[in-house]
Amino acid sequence: MNTSYLVTIMQTPDRHRLEVLRNARLEVDGTGRIASIEVADSDACADVILPPTTVLIPGLVDTHIHAPQWPQLGTGLDLPLETWLFEHTFPLEARLTQPEFASEVWPDMVATLLAHGTTTAVYYATTSVETTTMLASACVDAGQRALVGRVAMDHPDGTPSWYRDEHAAAGIAASAQSIEEIAALESPLVEPIITPRFTPACTDELLAGLGELAGEMGVRVQTHCSESDWEHGYAFDRFGESDTAALDGFGLVRDHSVMAHGDHLGDEDMAVLAARGAGVAHCPLSNAYFANAVFPARRALDAGVRVGLGTDIAGGAQPGLLSQCSDAVTMSRLLEDGVDGGRASEDRGVSNSRISITDAFWMATLGGADLLGLDVGLLEVGRHFDAVAVDTARLGSALRVWPGVDDDARAFEKIIRLATPPDIAHVWVGGRRVAGWAESEDR
Ligand SMILES: [Zn+2]
Repeated sequence: MNTSYLVTIMQTPDRHRLEVLRNARLEVDGTGRIASIEVADSDACADVILPPTTVLIPGLVDTHIHAPQWPQLGTGLDLPLETWLFEHTFPLEARLTQPEFASEVWPDMVATLLAHGTTTAVYYATTSVETTTMLASACVDAGQRALVGRVAMDHPDGTPSWYRDEHAAAGIAASAQSIEEIAALESPLVEPIITPRFTPACTDELLAGLGELAGEMGVRVQTHCSESDWEHGYAFDRFGESDTAALDGFGLVRDHSVMAHGDHLGDEDMAVLAARGAGVAHCPLSNAYFANAVFPARRALDAGVRVGLGTDIAGGAQPGLLSQCSDAVTMSRLLEDGVDGGRASEDRGVSNSRISITDAFWMATLGGADLLGLDVGLLEVGRHFDAVAVDTARLGSALRVWPGVDDDARAFEKIIRLATPPDIAHVWVGGRRVAGWAESEDR
């Protein structure tokens, strides 16, 4: 049975264009896809009529989350990466291989992310097949669309002895088993994703085996790529070529492969990503802590590289993707202007680097959807009805649209920069209402 909605829509069909549809009548079919959208008469009726002060935006696509780092969100970000990883992160991730702890953490995280409007999430789970499948189940139960990856890591130098795959063959077998277990859930919402942590954590044998697995099973890949000075330089030391070239040699740079961060990608690396149909999960806040540079989002997009946005929980300290839109704009300004006031302005920054809030929101929605190859990110016929309804008139909220003061572009920018979960009235994934503070669907 179809459900109809009468709404105001704001979205970005391309990265330079804000589209506003007022009094739009949107119909969702029984499979949760959008069957029709048309601008309606003023007296049109629908099953769900949202107030005129509520704005519907496409659901947010978070392309980079470390699920087992959820309990450390907001901590340790003044530490060097090595200390952060080995003393804080790996011990916590190891604890999340325990089903009892995972059964507490996963549903808490998924519910919170949905309340922030994250309708699609791309997760690194743990090295455990069992708790990885539990995460996929938690997404199905809560109604979140997700790609869920068992983390493969076996390198004796780049991982602790107490948190790694025993050897390459064991890692490849466990990743194959994880793919089968997630497929066996038979949910339209969740899919597996092959997840070598990053080259320093994986032996050549593991990387090659996972590349083969991706080809054989037709499963997407995610990993980290040229995130920091250290990781970027590490690849040249070990492989004699860039991280991108090495990953490509192992068959891991494929259509819809998600390369997290990519702050140090060269022009040749970007050409490889563009040619393969792979792209970057841009994590602006996390990059400020751990990447030693700002990701050149505009340069990558202009080079034809797919780019989505990511929180990089918990390398970034914010759970929602709207704040990452703001941060993406902020960081692009720092890249363009430079940061050292002791230098002359002309050699302080990188010209033509700034992006707009429209670019950023596009990356958080359609850009991410395109990176992953999912029919989400835009409210149009044929795509899944994954959407977020934002109330722009809540008493006590900084988000307030003033009639006669704010035009559409300003209202849109306010929503992106100022909306927090208390302003989010509804969240739908695949036509099912899964989060939001409102008591009924048409408030
Ligand atoms: Zn990461």
